[in-house]
Amino acid sequence: MITIDGSEGEGGGQVLRYAAALSLLTGEPFTIAKIRGGRAKPGLMRQHVTAIEAAAAVGSAECSGLAVGSTELTFRPGAVMPGEYHFAIGTAGSTALVVQTVLVPLMLADAPSRIVIEGGTHAASAPPFEFLAHTLLPVLARMGPRLSVTLERHGFFPRGGGRIVLEIAPAPLAPIACIERGAFRSGKVEALIAGIPFDIADRELKAARKVLADWPEDAFGPVQLPADHGPGNALLITAECDHVTEVMSAFGQIGIPAERLAKTAAKRMAGYLASGAFAGPYLQDQLLLPFAMAGAGAFTTVKLSEHTRTAAALIARFTGREFAFNEDAEGRLLASLG
Ligand code: AMP
Repeated sequence: MITIDGSEGEGGGQVLRYAAALSLLTGEPFTIAKIRGGRAKPGLMRQHVTAIEAAAAVGSAECSGLAVGSTELTFRPGAVMPGEYHFAIGTAGSTALVVQTVLVPLMLADAPSRIVIEGGTHAASAPPFEFLAHTLLPVLARMGPRLSVTLERHGFFPRGGGRIVLEIAPAPLAPIACIERGAFRSGKVEALIAGIPFDIADRELKAARKVLADWPEDAFGPVQLPADHGPGNALLITAECDHVTEVMSAFGQIGIPAERLAKTAAKRMAGYLASGAFAGPYLQDQLLLPFAMAGAGAFTTVKLSEHTRTAAALIARFTGREFAFNEDAEGRLLASLG
Protein backbone atom coordinates (compact mmCIF):
# COMPACT_ATOMS: atom_id res chain seq x y z
CA MET A 1 0.00 0.00 0.00
CA ILE A 2 1.54 3.27 -1.14
CA THR A 3 0.84 6.26 1.11
CA ILE A 4 0.60 9.66 -0.53
CA ASP A 5 0.47 13.15 0.93
CA GLY A 6 -1.77 14.97 -1.55
CA SER A 7 -0.49 18.37 -0.48
CA GLU A 8 3.08 17.65 -1.55
CA GLY A 9 4.60 19.05 -4.72
CA GLU A 10 1.99 20.60 -6.97
CA GLY A 11 -0.66 19.57 -4.45
CA GLY A 12 -3.66 19.53 -6.81
CA GLY A 13 -5.94 17.05 -8.54
CA GLN A 14 -3.20 15.75 -10.76
CA VAL A 15 -1.56 13.93 -7.82
CA LEU A 16 -4.74 11.96 -7.30
CA ARG A 17 -5.42 11.28 -10.99
CA TYR A 18 -1.86 10.13 -11.60
CA ALA A 19 -1.95 7.94 -8.48
CA ALA A 20 -5.15 6.25 -9.68
CA ALA A 21 -3.76 5.67 -13.17
CA LEU A 22 -0.46 4.35 -11.77
CA SER A 23 -2.34 2.10 -9.38
CA LEU A 24 -4.29 0.55 -12.28
CA LEU A 25 -1.09 0.14 -14.26
CA THR A 26 1.01 -1.42 -11.50
CA GLY A 27 -1.63 -3.22 -9.41
CA GLU A 28 -0.40 -1.30 -6.32
CA PRO A 29 -3.13 -0.02 -3.97
CA PHE A 30 -2.70 3.43 -2.47
CA THR A 31 -4.08 5.65 0.21
CA ILE A 32 -3.97 9.41 -0.07
CA ALA A 33 -4.50 12.06 2.62
CA LYS A 34 -4.66 15.88 2.37
CA ILE A 35 -6.18 15.59 -1.11
CA ARG A 36 -5.61 18.83 -3.06
CA GLY A 37 -3.98 20.23 0.07
CA GLY A 38 -2.11 22.77 -2.04
CA ARG A 39 -5.32 24.35 -3.34
CA ALA A 40 -7.35 27.22 -1.87
CA LYS A 41 -10.32 24.88 -1.43
CA PRO A 42 -8.84 21.44 -0.61
CA GLY A 43 -10.65 18.12 -0.97
CA LEU A 44 -12.39 16.39 -3.83
CA MET A 45 -14.49 18.40 -6.23
CA ARG A 46 -17.16 16.81 -8.39
CA GLN A 47 -14.73 16.39 -11.29
CA HIS A 48 -12.18 14.54 -9.15
CA VAL A 49 -14.89 12.22 -7.83
CA THR A 50 -15.89 11.39 -11.42
CA ALA A 51 -12.25 10.87 -12.45
CA ILE A 52 -11.74 8.36 -9.62
CA GLU A 53 -15.12 6.72 -10.26
CA ALA A 54 -13.98 6.33 -13.87
CA ALA A 55 -10.67 4.76 -12.79
CA ALA A 56 -12.52 2.45 -10.38
CA ALA A 57 -15.02 1.38 -13.05
CA VAL A 58 -12.38 0.77 -15.70
CA GLY A 59 -10.03 -0.96 -13.25
CA SER A 60 -12.53 -2.99 -11.19
CA ALA A 61 -11.19 -1.13 -8.15
CA GLU A 62 -12.51 -0.85 -4.63
CA CYS A 63 -12.46 2.68 -3.36
CA SER A 64 -13.40 4.17 0.01
CA GLY A 65 -13.67 7.84 0.95
CA LEU A 66 -14.92 8.90 -2.47
CA ALA A 67 -17.23 11.90 -1.95
CA VAL A 68 -17.23 15.60 -2.75
CA GLY A 69 -15.23 17.42 -0.06
CA SER A 70 -13.38 14.29 1.09
CA THR A 71 -9.66 14.77 1.82
CA GLU A 72 -8.71 11.09 2.15
CA LEU A 73 -9.31 8.00 0.12
CA THR A 74 -8.07 4.47 -0.40
CA PHE A 75 -7.95 2.78 -3.80
CA ARG A 76 -7.43 -0.95 -4.42
CA PRO A 77 -7.18 -1.76 -8.11
CA GLY A 78 -8.49 -4.90 -9.82
CA ALA A 79 -8.26 -5.94 -13.45
CA VAL A 80 -8.49 -3.30 -16.17
CA MET A 81 -11.61 -4.02 -18.22
CA PRO A 82 -11.74 -2.36 -21.63
CA GLY A 83 -15.16 -1.72 -23.15
CA GLU A 84 -17.91 0.88 -23.44
CA TYR A 85 -18.18 3.44 -20.67
CA HIS A 86 -20.16 6.60 -20.02
CA PHE A 87 -19.10 9.09 -17.34
CA ALA A 88 -21.05 12.27 -16.55
CA ILE A 89 -19.30 14.83 -14.36
CA GLY A 90 -22.47 16.84 -13.81
CA THR A 91 -20.60 20.19 -13.67
CA ALA A 92 -18.18 21.99 -15.99
CA GLY A 93 -15.40 19.84 -14.48
CA SER A 94 -12.93 18.78 -17.13
CA THR A 95 -13.71 15.86 -19.44
CA ALA A 96 -10.02 15.88 -20.53
CA LEU A 97 -8.90 15.26 -16.96
CA VAL A 98 -11.16 12.20 -16.72
CA VAL A 99 -9.41 11.08 -19.90
CA GLN A 100 -6.06 11.71 -18.19
CA THR A 101 -7.01 9.18 -15.49
CA VAL A 102 -8.06 6.23 -17.66
CA LEU A 103 -6.24 6.76 -20.95
CA VAL A 104 -2.92 5.00 -20.35
CA PRO A 105 -4.42 1.95 -18.59
CA LEU A 106 -6.84 1.52 -21.52
CA MET A 107 -4.05 2.06 -24.07
CA LEU A 108 -2.43 -1.03 -22.57
CA ALA A 109 -5.61 -3.13 -22.16
CA ASP A 110 -6.31 -6.26 -24.21
CA ALA A 111 -9.27 -4.93 -26.23
CA PRO A 112 -10.59 -1.59 -27.56
CA SER A 113 -12.63 0.91 -25.55
CA ARG A 114 -15.13 3.63 -26.35
CA ILE A 115 -15.75 6.21 -23.66
CA VAL A 116 -18.33 8.97 -23.61
CA ILE A 117 -17.61 11.75 -21.10
CA GLU A 118 -19.93 14.64 -20.27
CA GLY A 119 -18.86 17.83 -18.51
CA GLY A 120 -16.59 20.74 -19.38
CA THR A 121 -14.63 20.78 -22.62
CA HIS A 122 -13.30 24.38 -22.44
CA ALA A 123 -12.70 25.51 -18.87
CA ALA A 124 -9.78 26.99 -16.94
CA SER A 125 -6.90 24.96 -15.50
CA ALA A 126 -7.46 21.94 -17.74
CA PRO A 127 -6.72 20.89 -21.31
CA PRO A 128 -9.32 22.09 -23.81
CA PHE A 129 -10.69 19.49 -26.22
CA GLU A 130 -8.39 20.72 -29.01
CA PHE A 131 -5.30 20.06 -26.89
CA LEU A 132 -6.40 16.44 -26.47
CA ALA A 133 -7.29 16.03 -30.13
CA HIS A 134 -4.39 17.85 -31.79
CA THR A 135 -1.55 17.87 -29.26
CA LEU A 136 -1.61 14.94 -26.82
CA LEU A 137 -3.30 12.06 -28.66
CA PRO A 138 -1.28 12.35 -31.91
CA VAL A 139 1.98 12.07 -29.92
CA LEU A 140 0.71 9.07 -27.94
CA ALA A 141 -0.57 7.40 -31.12
CA ARG A 142 3.02 7.33 -32.33
CA MET A 143 3.76 4.90 -29.50
CA GLY A 144 1.42 2.29 -31.01
CA PRO A 145 -2.25 2.59 -29.94
CA ARG A 146 -4.89 4.04 -32.26
CA LEU A 147 -6.59 6.96 -30.54
CA SER A 148 -9.35 9.32 -31.56
CA VAL A 149 -11.51 11.84 -29.78
CA THR A 150 -14.52 13.75 -31.08
CA LEU A 151 -16.37 16.72 -29.67
CA GLU A 152 -20.14 16.37 -29.79
CA ARG A 153 -20.95 19.46 -27.77
CA HIS A 154 -18.99 22.24 -26.09
CA GLY A 155 -19.11 22.61 -22.32
CA PHE A 156 -18.06 25.89 -20.71
CA PHE A 157 -17.82 26.99 -17.09
CA PRO A 158 -20.16 27.19 -15.18
CA ARG A 159 -22.81 25.29 -17.11
CA GLY A 160 -20.87 22.31 -18.47
CA GLY A 161 -23.02 20.09 -20.65
CA GLY A 162 -20.21 19.27 -23.07
CA ARG A 163 -19.71 15.81 -24.52
CA ILE A 164 -16.68 14.04 -25.96
CA VAL A 165 -16.19 10.52 -27.26
CA LEU A 166 -12.82 8.83 -26.90
CA GLU A 167 -11.90 5.68 -28.81
CA ILE A 168 -8.86 3.62 -27.93
CA ALA A 169 -7.43 0.64 -29.81
CA PRO A 170 -4.66 -0.59 -27.50
CA ALA A 171 -1.15 -1.68 -28.41
CA PRO A 172 2.10 -2.22 -26.51
CA LEU A 173 3.76 1.17 -26.00
CA ALA A 174 6.93 1.64 -28.04
CA PRO A 175 9.47 4.14 -26.70
CA ILE A 176 9.72 7.27 -28.84
CA ALA A 177 12.09 10.24 -29.03
CA CYS A 178 10.43 13.62 -29.47
CA ILE A 179 13.44 15.89 -29.82
CA GLU A 180 12.80 18.19 -32.78
CA ARG A 181 9.44 19.73 -33.46
CA GLY A 182 10.44 20.38 -37.09
CA ALA A 183 9.56 23.42 -39.16
CA PHE A 184 6.67 25.71 -38.26
CA ARG A 185 3.93 25.05 -40.83
CA SER A 186 1.05 27.27 -39.81
CA GLY A 187 -0.54 29.16 -36.94
CA LYS A 188 -4.20 29.66 -36.14
CA VAL A 189 -5.95 31.74 -33.49
CA GLU A 190 -9.63 31.05 -32.90
CA ALA A 191 -11.90 32.93 -30.51
CA LEU A 192 -14.84 30.68 -29.65
CA ILE A 193 -17.99 32.52 -28.68
CA ALA A 194 -21.24 30.95 -27.48
CA GLY A 195 -24.15 33.07 -26.37
CA ILE A 196 -22.11 36.11 -25.28
CA PRO A 197 -21.33 39.42 -27.00
CA PHE A 198 -19.32 39.03 -30.17
CA ASP A 199 -16.97 41.95 -29.46
CA ILE A 200 -15.23 39.76 -26.86
CA ALA A 201 -13.87 37.64 -29.72
CA ASP A 202 -12.67 40.76 -31.53
CA ARG A 203 -10.88 42.09 -28.48
CA GLU A 204 -9.17 38.76 -27.85
CA LEU A 205 -8.06 38.40 -31.44
CA LYS A 206 -6.64 41.93 -31.49
CA ALA A 207 -4.72 41.34 -28.27
CA ALA A 208 -3.31 38.05 -29.57
CA ARG A 209 -2.30 39.71 -32.87
CA LYS A 210 -0.21 42.26 -31.04
CA VAL A 211 1.90 39.43 -29.59
CA LEU A 212 1.92 37.09 -32.61
CA ALA A 213 2.53 39.98 -34.99
CA ASP A 214 4.27 37.89 -37.65
CA TRP A 215 1.31 35.51 -38.08
CA PRO A 216 -0.79 36.40 -41.17
CA GLU A 217 -4.03 38.29 -40.68
CA ASP A 218 -6.15 35.41 -41.93
CA ALA A 219 -4.76 33.18 -39.16
CA PHE A 220 -7.02 35.07 -36.71
CA GLY A 221 -10.76 34.47 -36.72
CA PRO A 222 -13.86 34.24 -34.53
CA VAL A 223 -15.86 31.01 -34.27
CA GLN A 224 -19.50 31.51 -33.40
CA LEU A 225 -21.00 28.47 -31.69
CA PRO A 226 -24.71 27.80 -31.13
CA ALA A 227 -25.89 30.03 -28.28
CA ASP A 228 -27.19 27.03 -26.37
CA HIS A 229 -23.63 25.62 -26.10
CA GLY A 230 -22.89 28.62 -23.89
CA PRO A 231 -22.61 31.01 -22.35
CA GLY A 232 -18.92 30.65 -22.91
CA ASN A 233 -15.75 31.80 -24.57
CA ALA A 234 -12.34 30.29 -25.24
CA LEU A 235 -9.32 31.42 -27.19
CA LEU A 236 -7.37 28.65 -28.92
CA ILE A 237 -3.92 29.34 -30.34
CA THR A 238 -2.59 26.50 -32.47
CA ALA A 239 0.90 26.13 -33.94
CA GLU A 240 1.30 23.26 -36.35
CA CYS A 241 4.89 22.10 -36.76
CA ASP A 242 6.25 19.13 -38.72
CA HIS A 243 6.30 16.77 -35.71
CA VAL A 244 3.93 18.29 -33.16
CA THR A 245 0.96 20.62 -32.95
CA GLU A 246 0.78 22.75 -29.80
CA VAL A 247 -2.41 24.38 -28.55
CA MET A 248 -2.30 27.21 -26.02
CA SER A 249 -5.59 28.40 -24.60
CA ALA A 250 -7.41 30.96 -22.53
CA PHE A 251 -10.91 30.79 -21.14
CA GLY A 252 -13.23 33.75 -20.66
CA GLN A 253 -13.68 34.55 -17.01
CA ILE A 254 -15.98 37.12 -15.45
CA GLY A 255 -13.88 39.90 -13.93
CA ILE A 256 -10.78 39.32 -16.06
CA PRO A 257 -10.41 41.48 -19.18
CA ALA A 258 -10.50 39.44 -22.39
CA GLU A 259 -7.37 41.27 -23.58
CA ARG A 260 -5.36 40.13 -20.60
CA LEU A 261 -6.35 36.46 -21.01
CA ALA A 262 -5.57 36.58 -24.72
CA LYS A 263 -2.22 38.27 -24.20
CA THR A 264 -1.13 35.69 -21.63
CA ALA A 265 -1.99 32.78 -23.93
CA ALA A 266 -0.33 34.42 -26.94
CA LYS A 267 2.82 35.10 -24.94
CA ARG A 268 2.86 31.48 -23.87
CA MET A 269 2.75 30.46 -27.51
CA ALA A 270 5.47 32.97 -28.46
CA GLY A 271 7.66 31.66 -25.63
CA TYR A 272 7.12 28.09 -26.73
CA LEU A 273 7.97 28.89 -30.35
CA ALA A 274 11.11 30.78 -29.31
CA SER A 275 12.28 27.85 -27.15
CA GLY A 276 12.81 25.36 -29.98
CA ALA A 277 11.42 22.63 -27.70
CA PHE A 278 9.02 19.84 -28.72
CA ALA A 279 6.64 19.96 -25.75
CA GLY A 280 5.05 23.10 -24.31
CA PRO A 281 4.38 23.72 -20.62
CA TYR A 282 1.30 21.45 -20.40
CA LEU A 283 2.19 18.64 -22.76
CA GLN A 284 5.27 18.21 -20.56
CA ASP A 285 3.59 16.60 -17.53
CA GLN A 286 1.10 14.71 -19.67
CA LEU A 287 3.82 12.81 -21.55
CA LEU A 288 5.45 11.39 -18.42
CA LEU A 289 3.04 8.57 -17.66
CA PRO A 290 2.89 7.03 -21.16
CA PHE A 291 6.66 7.42 -21.52
CA ALA A 292 7.17 5.73 -18.15
CA MET A 293 4.97 2.81 -19.20
CA ALA A 294 6.93 2.47 -22.44
CA GLY A 295 9.98 2.05 -20.18
CA ALA A 296 12.10 4.54 -22.13
CA GLY A 297 11.91 7.64 -24.30
CA ALA A 298 12.89 11.29 -24.44
CA PHE A 299 11.44 14.67 -25.27
CA THR A 300 12.63 18.25 -25.28
CA THR A 301 10.54 20.80 -23.48
CA VAL A 302 10.32 24.28 -21.99
CA LYS A 303 11.07 25.13 -18.35
CA LEU A 304 10.22 22.32 -15.91
CA SER A 305 6.76 22.75 -14.38
CA GLU A 306 5.74 21.86 -10.84
CA HIS A 307 3.13 19.49 -12.32
CA THR A 308 5.96 17.64 -14.09
CA ARG A 309 8.15 17.46 -11.00
CA THR A 310 5.24 16.07 -9.00
CA ALA A 311 4.23 13.56 -11.67
CA ALA A 312 7.83 12.34 -12.01
CA ALA A 313 8.10 11.80 -8.24
CA LEU A 314 4.85 9.82 -8.18
CA ILE A 315 5.90 7.69 -11.14
CA ALA A 316 9.16 6.88 -9.36
CA ARG A 317 7.26 5.77 -6.26
CA PHE A 318 4.92 3.42 -8.12
CA THR A 319 7.30 2.08 -10.78
CA GLY A 320 10.86 2.77 -9.63
CA ARG A 321 11.42 4.51 -12.99
CA GLU A 322 13.19 7.85 -12.72
CA PHE A 323 13.15 10.55 -15.36
CA ALA A 324 16.29 12.63 -15.84
CA PHE A 325 15.95 16.33 -16.69
CA ASN A 326 19.02 17.87 -18.30
CA GLU A 327 19.81 20.73 -20.60
CA ASP A 328 20.62 19.61 -24.14
CA ALA A 329 23.24 21.13 -26.46
CA GLU A 330 20.68 23.64 -27.77
CA GLY A 331 19.75 24.85 -24.28
CA ARG A 332 16.41 23.01 -24.23
CA LEU A 333 15.30 20.92 -21.30
CA LEU A 334 15.59 17.23 -22.18
CA ALA A 335 13.35 14.81 -20.25
CA SER A 336 14.60 11.25 -20.64
CA LEU A 337 14.03 7.80 -19.28
CA GLY A 338 16.05 4.60 -19.73
P1 AMP B 1 -4.36 19.97 -11.64
O1 AMP B 1 -4.08 21.44 -11.66
O2 AMP B 1 -3.53 19.28 -10.63
O3 AMP B 1 -5.79 19.63 -11.60
O4 AMP B 1 -3.81 19.42 -13.08
C1 AMP B 1 -4.17 20.06 -14.28
C2 AMP B 1 -3.73 19.26 -15.50
O5 AMP B 1 -4.27 19.92 -16.66
C3 AMP B 1 -2.23 19.17 -15.74
O6 AMP B 1 -1.94 17.91 -16.34
C4 AMP B 1 -1.95 20.29 -16.73
O7 AMP B 1 -0.84 20.06 -17.57
C5 AMP B 1 -3.24 20.30 -17.54
N1 AMP B 1 -3.58 21.65 -18.06
C6 AMP B 1 -3.92 22.76 -17.34
N2 AMP B 1 -4.17 23.80 -18.15
C7 AMP B 1 -3.98 23.37 -19.43
C8 AMP B 1 -4.07 23.97 -20.73
N3 AMP B 1 -4.41 25.26 -20.85
N4 AMP B 1 -3.78 23.23 -21.81
C9 AMP B 1 -3.43 21.92 -21.68
N5 AMP B 1 -3.35 21.29 -20.49
C10 AMP B 1 -3.61 21.99 -19.37
